[in-house]
Amino acid sequence: MESVACDFCGSTESVQIARQTDLLHRTTDEFFDIVQCTSCGLQYTNPRPESAEIGRYYAKGYSFHAARSKLRRVIAAVSERVANGPLAAFAGLLPGISRRLAMHVKPSITDPVRDYYASGGVGTMLDIGCGTGASAHFWGERGALLAYRQITEVAGVEVADRARELLAGEGVEAWRDIGDVPRDRRFGLIRMNWSLEHVYSPLRYFSFIRDRLETNGRAVITVPNYDGLIYRLAPDCVELPIHLYHFRPCDIENFADRCGLRVLELRTFSYSQMFIAAAQAGLFPGSFSKQLNVWQARTFQSVLTRFDRAGWGNDMIAVLGPVR
Ligand SMILES: [Zn+2]
Repeated sequence: MESVACDFCGSTESVQIARQTDLLHRTTDEFFDIVQCTSCGLQYTNPRPESAEIGRYYAKGYSFHAARSKLRRVIAAVSERVANGPLAAFAGLLPGISRRLAMHVKPSITDPVRDYYASGGVGTMLDIGCGTGASAHFWGERGALLAYRQITEVAGVEVADRARELLAGEGVEAWRDIGDVPRDRRFGLIRMNWSLEHVYSPLRYFSFIRDRLETNGRAVITVPNYDGLIYRLAPDCVELPIHLYHFRPCDIENFADRCGLRVLELRTFSYSQMFIAAAQAGLFPGSFSKQLNVWQARTFQSVLTRFDRAGWGNDMIAVLGPVR
């Protein structure tokens, strides 16, 4: 374990704001603290496992959650379409299917990566923390690195050796760390899809983005929003110790300002399943519903949308560009 100073401002003064063990993945019984820097407000896990020991806190296959079989990916894509469309009215009549569909209810957000290229953006897309490149969490298969090959050249950064081998087999260039990316390479779009909260120094990544973006390039950063509703209800509802930083929108603004980037767009969003997962993990009162059918999930989702618009969504997506 190591104790560290604030990555943003260097201060060692902080106050503890949450304490939790790994309730979500059950990799350990150890407890970890989240502290808030008294100088700049950044929230981070401290003390934290050193980089040589963090691997054992990742559940087996964590980085490969994306490497599902083709059949499972198709089922997920179809379920998502049904759960969020008019067909849910029929599927909702079958309780078993209805509960399964509830897990796929989510807000509709257009993919900023596709938006960038559709509006004339050029340059290679670099995905930092790309996994196997076959699927991309919220964005599914269509928002995965391999799918973007249809619209642009792609490359990745991924710490897992096996994932990089799979990408090499697909003819996609991938490096282990941003420090391994050749100095002369520039990118049109750099994405960090739920990966910035796992890195040891966010400042290093914001600097990399500033140095390596093409003149009119964009960065797309998606991370949990620690200002979100779920963290207001249960501040210790976090993935510890693997999330090393617990950002709020103002932290993203601070890092961007400091590194010569500007935030062009920032929105927050939630999906109902996250509340259900938190209830199942025992983070809400025992009487809180641990299961929803597809209609309840959609009603819940429409309420969450109001919080999302107010900046209280549980995740956030920021689009950044260089300051000219
Ligand atoms: Zn600080």
